[in-house]
Amino acid sequence: MINFSEYIRNIPDFPVKGIQFKDITTLLKEGDVFAAAVDQMYGPYKEEEINKIVGIESRGFIFGAAMAYKLNAGFIPVRKPGKLPAETLSEEYQLEYGTDSLEVHLDGIEAGDRVLVIDDLLATGGTAQATCTLVEKLGGQIVGLSFLIELTSLKGREKLSKYRVHSLIQYEI
Ligand code: AMP
Repeated sequence: MINFSEYIRNIPDFPVKGIQFKDITTLLKEGDVFAAAVDQMYGPYKEEEINKIVGIESRGFIFGAAMAYKLNAGFIPVRKPGKLPAETLSEEYQLEYGTDSLEVHLDGIEAGDRVLVIDDLLATGGTAQATCTLVEKLGGQIVGLSFLIELTSLKGREKLSKYRVHSLIQYEI
């Protein structure tokens, strides 16, 4: 059994003072560890007939694309404003100070799609909830969400309580 947390590097005060950044590049660079993480992140959803993986910019793209290949599913990027070239749907969400928003292509999700949402890390859950809202507004069904890391004290799982949520590493900070 791989202890994934051994491969996560903590960077204090990045990108701003007071944030302990979880750096996953130290996991990604180890081929067998990266592969095992991908396998365990989508494992619980293997039999769920997922046809779309929605990856959240930017580290969700790394894990999500690998899973889409494994599941023979389509990959749909959810991006920060102004990055996607075609017509988009946009969803605002709360940050500690102010708001941010995320976008998806209108033709990225079709009614009835069975969707797995992927990101590297679950903190407050605002990013993931906005992503689920985008998918649902386009008629997709959220089968579940999967994260490499969960910061449990920020209670993202409570915000996402109507969905199935998996994470491989939990930190109580
Ligand atoms: P939240 O919306 O609060 O759940 O934040 C999740 C998003 O912010 C994810 O896309 C993460 O990549 C990023 N994020 C939040 N906190 C951290 C952290 N401590 N280390 C690395 N990434 C983080």
